Amino acid sequence: MDMDELMLDGNAVAGMLQEVFAVEITTAVGMCGKCGATEPIGATRVFRGAGIVLRCPHCDNVLAKVVKDNGRMWISFAGVRALEVAV
Ligand SMILES: [Zn+2]
Repeated sequence: MDMDELMLDGNAVAGMLQEVFAVEITTAVGMCGKCGATEPIGATRVFRGAGIVLRCPHCDNVLAKVVKDNGRMWISFAGVRALEVAV
């Protein structure tokens, strides 16, 4: 299966991420740890597989990985240099 067939944009995971973050996560602005581009989470590329992978729309860097199980969620933002949220 082609990776593009599994791709959505970051808005597709808004509900799942809002279970953890009590902010409007799709408008949070992340800075890519590789290329330095800044984009709202809603503009990231989302790939679905065993978990969810959010990739930078500019350089394809893995920004975040999310795995959800019954009642638990594991989140890594290893590829995000900074995340700006409105408070
Ligand atoms: Zn990037």
